[in-house]
Amino acid sequence: MSDLSYEIDSDGIAVITWDLEDRSMNVLNFKSLGEYKDILNKLIPDENVKGIILRSAKDAFIAGADLTSADVFGFDQIQEDKVKAAEKIYNGNMEMQLLFRSMENSGKPFVAAINGHALGGGFEICLACHYRVAIDNDKIQIGQPEAKVGLIPGAGGTQRVPRLAGVNQDIMGFLMAGTPFTPKKALSSGLIHEVTDAENLIVAAKKYIADGGKAVQPWDEKGYKFPGGLPYTPKGAMIWAASSSTLRKMSYNNYPAQSAILSAIYEGVQVPIDAGLRIEARYFTKVVMDPVSRNMVRSLFVNMQALNKGARRPKEFEKYDVKKIGILGAGLMGAGIAYVTAKSGIEVILIDTDQAAAEKGKEYSTKILDKQLSKKRTTEEKKEKLLNLITPTTDYSLLQGADLIVEAVFENRDIKADVTAKAEAQIAETAVFGSNTSTLPITGLAENSKRPNNFIGIHYFSPVERMPLVEIIMGKETSQETLAKTMDYVQKIKKTPIVVNDSRGFYTSRVFGTYTGEGVAMLAEGIKPALIENAGKMTGMPMAPLALSDAVALDLAWKVTMQTKKDLEAEGKEFPVTPMYTLLEEMVDKQGRYGKKNNKGFYEYPENGKKYLWPELSNLCKESDEQPEVSELKKRFLYIQALETAKCYEENVLTDVRDADIGAILGWGMAPWTGGPLSYIDMIGIKDFVTEADNLAQKYGERFIPCKLLRDMAAKNESFHSSGKSGQVA
Ligand code: NAD
Repeated sequence: MSDLSYEIDSDGIAVITWDLEDRSMNVLNFKSLGEYKDILNKLIPDENVKGIILRSAKDAFIAGADLTSADVFGFDQIQEDKVKAAEKIYNGNMEMQLLFRSMENSGKPFVAAINGHALGGGFEICLACHYRVAIDNDKIQIGQPEAKVGLIPGAGGTQRVPRLAGVNQDIMGFLMAGTPFTPKKALSSGLIHEVTDAENLIVAAKKYIADGGKAVQPWDEKGYKFPGGLPYTPKGAMIWAASSSTLRKMSYNNYPAQSAILSAIYEGVQVPIDAGLRIEARYFTKVVMDPVSRNMVRSLFVNMQALNKGARRPKEFEKYDVKKIGILGAGLMGAGIAYVTAKSGIEVILIDTDQAAAEKGKEYSTKILDKQLSKKRTTEEKKEKLLNLITPTTDYSLLQGADLIVEAVFENRDIKADVTAKAEAQIAETAVFGSNTSTLPITGLAENSKRPNNFIGIHYFSPVERMPLVEIIMGKETSQETLAKTMDYVQKIKKTPIVVNDSRGFYTSRVFGTYTGEGVAMLAEGIKPALIENAGKMTGMPMAPLALSDAVALDLAWKVTMQTKKDLEAEGKEFPVTPMYTLLEEMVDKQGRYGKKNNKGFYEYPENGKKYLWPELSNLCKESDEQPEVSELKKRFLYIQALETAKCYEENVLTDVRDADIGAILGWGMAPWTGGPLSYIDMIGIKDFVTEADNLAQKYGERFIPCKLLRDMAAKNESFHSSGKSGQVA
């Protein structure tokens, strides 16, 4: 035994301690559950044992199933033999269900002593205990986060949670959105029995057993009543009647897990618990068999965690502790960067052309903190501490001693060159210089630097305090050491980094533009604007394409198009004048419709009302008599993003599949159910994807022609994520 141990005290109370070796968190996997089963096989039949306590020797209680181990859900076998895989998943799941059920039926009281996070299977094991006591600390999360990664609670969560707490909005959020509870909230909802302080935890657990606490679950007692009324009662019907339509409206049926959770609860609570657990196991199997769950586990959990832990950081360099940074430009981006940086305890020198502008940049942090104060999410002391770290100024000499500079002045090469020279005159030779440019190639900007090796792109997203991604861009001369240092900074400010090579629009802006661009192209083809917008949302994108084009600004899209035209012509290439080009020209150049910024774009933005599609659009782009199926439009939206991403991979702008998938989901909100653009191609299957892209190219134009990389992969039937090992780089 190495992961679990147990002791039996003089009162006959057994304490099982979870403490997985070589892991910072306790997780449920074949090994730990196997050991747990062996221990129960000894303790349950032992007459001297009066009751059993589960505790953890780590900070968290148990964090859930081991999602990093590829075989834990039998993902691998699904490709090979679907029937066998389903059988394996179902049987494996039922084995765990029965193990937990054996705790409930053992005749001995089981108590969970929850000292830290109890999540997913880690909370379900607690639910199978007869008594649950937790430390009263609001930082502790008690929850069922499975739905967040496309799974469903599969160890009784969908059955025991509603049987304890009924079905209400909070419980729906707990199970379907994975919103965790604090121990206090879990107590008031009826999910745990007691909260106490850390010193008293085991004492309280032992007391339950010593006092002769029941060894029967409420649902196994005669006369048990489902809290709040079953679905067929008038009260229950009120909750259930709208639930499916609400779910559909929110998810457009893109997320099998949420529908499965809803069904498992609805069907499961109407039958005895053993049948309910079997129902849950069937839905669990169905969801795991669906490629969406694999996509989501791989991208949103395994690969995200890997990137956050620095998987892309060159290993050979010592950790770089950034203590002071300089930010050049205190506008929208500079102000946000100052806030997130100071929040992680780093000193910030915030520079602008005049003192008032610099002060205004600091004001941004004050406003955020005041809002937090009013919601009691921070204290006056913490607010002051953070604000004291930010010095607004015009004086470049204050940059002396800065470990890193982030330049966020206007998007203008000359201004950027000027501030680069001024800052470099003050900082050490070893300091990093990062530019937050969104469009200007890093290699070109680095030509203005005395130390191009130290020059790098650090591309934040707006609003900086809310957007989790940072796209790091390597210029031609950027050194690996500079990358390592930059990644240490990004990790310190708790953002997820991806690393890409220099190119126009880098990765995220370049591919993001294909989604909005496709919406505009559809409009130019004569597809009804409302159909385009609905199809975009039904694809699972956070915003409809035309509304998003307005939000980003149509004049910007026009400027980028003009620049591309100029560049192509300078290279002696022909710029294809498409209907999309003509439409943008009409909207921006002739009609002065710049988007949301001047309240005139594809939409009208009345001062006191909701935005609505500009009625004149149908005159500008004559609507076709025959309108396409929504499924065709959805396909176009996803294919165009996936094709451009593959091109970035071929061109070496992307070098790691994880960067591609995570960057897409976090950067521009590409439908998370796809797992990102490369996971999407894998899900379709490379051969089918290439064939379908060729079809789309025939119908809609050259932009759908698959790149050589895809054709080569199709010839060899390869996938981006090497089959079998979720999270592996192909
Ligand atoms: P902004 O116009 O809000 O802010 C720019 C700031 O730079 C202004 O406060 C201006 O006074 C200051 N500035 C101009 N010249 C200066 C100089 N010589 N010395 C010091 N300060 C100077 O612009 P923004 O939206 O914050 O964008 C800044 C940079 O970030 C741009 O390169 C932009 O492309 C990039 N970016 C913007 C976004 C976005 O969503 N806005 C996202 C990513 C990257």
